[in-house]
Amino acid sequence: TQPNSPEARDKKYHMHAYTNARRHQEVGPLIIEKGDGIYVEDISGKRYIEAMSGLWSVGVGFSEKRLVDAATRQMAKLPFYHNFTHKGHSPVIDLAEKLVTMAPVPMSKAFFTNSGSEANDTAMKMIWYRSNALGQPQKKKIISRKRGYHGVTIASASLTGLPYNHMSFDLPIANVLHTSSPHHWREAQPGETEQQFSTRLADDLEKLILAEGPDTVAAFFGEPVMGAGGVVVPPAGYWEKIQAVLKKYDILLVADEVICGFGRTGNMFGTETYAMQPDIMVMSKQISSSYLPISAMLVNDRVFDPLADESNRIGTFGHGFTAGGHPVAAAVALENIAIIEERNLVANAREVGAHMQKRLAGLAAHDLVGEVRGVALIGAMELVTDKATKAPWGNVGALGGLVNGILQQNGVISRNMGDSLAFCPPLIINDKQVDDIFDAVEKSLDEAARQVKA
Ligand code: PLP
Repeated sequence: TQPNSPEARDKKYHMHAYTNARRHQEVGPLIIEKGDGIYVEDISGKRYIEAMSGLWSVGVGFSEKRLVDAATRQMAKLPFYHNFTHKGHSPVIDLAEKLVTMAPVPMSKAFFTNSGSEANDTAMKMIWYRSNALGQPQKKKIISRKRGYHGVTIASASLTGLPYNHMSFDLPIANVLHTSSPHHWREAQPGETEQQFSTRLADDLEKLILAEGPDTVAAFFGEPVMGAGGVVVPPAGYWEKIQAVLKKYDILLVADEVICGFGRTGNMFGTETYAMQPDIMVMSKQISSSYLPISAMLVNDRVFDPLADESNRIGTFGHGFTAGGHPVAAAVALENIAIIEERNLVANAREVGAHMQKRLAGLAAHDLVGEVRGVALIGAMELVTDKATKAPWGNVGALGGLVNGILQQNGVISRNMGDSLAFCPPLIINDKQVDDIFDAVEKSLDEAARQVKA
């Protein structure tokens, strides 16, 4: 590469997120120049299907002019205002009303932030504030799950249940605990059915609550379907049994809808797909198709009322972000949700998602595929070289990285989380485009199998 090329300047000046700095000097960047529908194109002109919607986020695809126009209109009218100390603006009111009224379970208020991590931090602080307002300062512990993903700030990384996000950062912080991962294929005992496994996980949760003291546990955080933990779909009976335990001990449920929200699982929210009754919903990514950063926390009356109650002597909720509920991002989110509704993209996710799950299921017979899993337009295949022992090929992630690299050469961008490759294409995808993805996946698996055997 030329010394002044974008690749060379990237290596010289740009520090990438979630990247091994030493390896980046060898591998270099993939620089994406433009997008069109489900496709993106790099600076050499090579075209890819973006089978991850970027980062599980570009629901309406990469070239939605209506979102550009919504941003331009709002930018020209009021490019910035905030919502601190009783002030506000129309786009944020419109979006709050839209989200509260479209929520699948009764919700009361929306609070706006800029990322999934910030929204989860906000939920934690809200829960702690509420316990103080209720005169229950001991009720501060929060339970999330191993393999769960909730973000990377100090607090949300603590909620995240991946060793990777704790190592080297001295996390998790105090008051955050992790219960068992719901991945049946990896974690179930021999012969244990999904229902039996779910019962055992609910028992694990109850044991943890009893060991900690039920009056010290405030909330449970969970993604309806785990995303970054490897696309883990809840086993049969899981949410029903977990929610029964939470109800028994008066523990709030927070549904992290950052990936599942806005159609991904074949309903508008993952909460509907799995009959969840959350007290707080956290949403981001597909809320604006990530054209601009925005996220939201919705709370129900049970959470909100103690704040406004006259018995609350704390007063001000001392929390908020300069750009939280940014008017341009809010205008884009509103237009994005309108597009999802008008074009029936949730139904599309369900219908084309059924086809995607069929193609995924067809991979299960391949020598390198240990498990396939998913729902509607989110799925994963987990790679192994020995199906009986489920052992990885060398280090965990080596086979995932190999197949992911070959697949990228073959024109499809996926994402390997360890040895699981995820598929989470834009909601606008059609059956033929799903076939293009999985034809390339089959070809890539065969190529990888030849390399593994060689
Ligand atoms: N929660 C979930 C379920 C996520 O998948 C993510 C990001 O992938 C986050 C939270 C964190 O969001 P952000 O990267 O915007 O901080």
